Amino acid sequence: NFIKVIDEKNEELNIFLEVNKESALKQAEAIDKKIANGEKVGFLSGLVFGIKANINVEDYIISAASKTLDNYFGSYNATVIDKILAEDGIILGITNMDEFAAGSSTETSCFGPTQNPAAPGRIPGGSSGGSAAAVAAEMCDIALGSDTGGSIRNPASHCGVVGFKPTYGAVSRQGLLDLSMSLDQIGPLANDTSGIALALNAISDYDETECTTLKGERSDFTSVLEEKSLEGMKIAVCKEFIDVTDAEINVAVNKAIHKLVEAGAELVEVSFDHIDLCLPTYYLINYVEFFSATRKYDGRDYGYRIENVCGEEVLRRIEIGSYISQKEYSGKFYKKALQARSLIRDEINAMLENVDLIVGPTVPKLPHKIGDELTPMEMYAYDVLTVIANLAGIPAGSIKAGEVDGIPVGLQIQAKPLDDLKIIKAMSVFE
Ligand code: GLN
Repeated sequence: NFIKVIDEKNEELNIFLEVNKESALKQAEAIDKKIANGEKVGFLSGLVFGIKANINVEDYIISAASKTLDNYFGSYNATVIDKILAEDGIILGITNMDEFAAGSSTETSCFGPTQNPAAPGRIPGGSSGGSAAAVAAEMCDIALGSDTGGSIRNPASHCGVVGFKPTYGAVSRQGLLDLSMSLDQIGPLANDTSGIALALNAISDYDETECTTLKGERSDFTSVLEEKSLEGMKIAVCKEFIDVTDAEINVAVNKAIHKLVEAGAELVEVSFDHIDLCLPTYYLINYVEFFSATRKYDGRDYGYRIENVCGEEVLRRIEIGSYISQKEYSGKFYKKALQARSLIRDEINAMLENVDLIVGPTVPKLPHKIGDELTPMEMYAYDVLTVIANLAGIPAGSIKAGEVDGIPVGLQIQAKPLDDLKIIKAMSVFE
């Protein structure tokens, strides 16, 4: 069925960059055989996955939607891919994204933009726009994305699906082409919370090959799906988050927050003083870490020298990242950014001492029409509410709150590090 939808719509929507039908059918047959033989099958049995083009999958071209890597063949599976396969999930193909995940619209892909299936003519958000659109267009059950400053939650919001960025370190990044390694996390997108919970059960784990993953048992994320009661939970809305968001979006988001209250949650209002620091801090750290990550694309091991073939946004980050990295400037900018990051992290963690969840809009604006010319600053403005979770390392999810003029808008739910389960519990109220 998914293959049929892809055959019919992928050319127009530009969601999958590559689909391997034969391999997917072979995987499905192997699962059928196991069932016929009475063998035990994994809990992802028969669920079909799309994978963002910056996560290594054997035998696919893993280009990160960049000309730099357009002939880079995945020679191994990322840890998350092996974990999905081990539970009998089926990998169907590779989804479109912003070049090197640096963007919020999927327009910077060297393969062209992806259409938003839920809002024709508009961007799907980004950078995991292909993954969100794949789920929204019913081309697969679950998709994996990566989230450095919102790249899972932003497109989930714009496409009306569910997206989840786990606690930093909860899921292995081994096999992810990094944008900014102290901020990057892999996570799932799906049409419902149970898809998210199943995917997290598979991928959330300690990985001895990835030194930033956290040790310790993980929750069973499906265990709270049926509860639907938030009795005893305290949720906070942040005045500053509402102030930066368009009025119609706030209306839809407030309705969704009301549902959480109806389910028993107690609502309080809080204040977040460092909101103005978030975007400058995020982009500074992102530029510097991305510049350093790109030094391996010097034309020796992978096709081209990155500066010679990349798009404008990637070049901007490399040039400014290089400038800031020069020794004489390091104290002036990067160190300051790290200090600002601590302030942001401390303020958010202090807030989460007193409440279980912070709720509010995921993205402050509606998605623009494909081809509209935005300045870099206008583009970055999409990220103001999502970068906070990455800077603080906390888990955050986005679920559809409602629509504005037929365009989906998302509710963002954030929690303390390792309280991912509380977010899933709150999300399940919407099902
Ligand atoms: N839009 C943000 C950026 O351009 C976030 C990207 C991401 O999360 N990968 O950096």
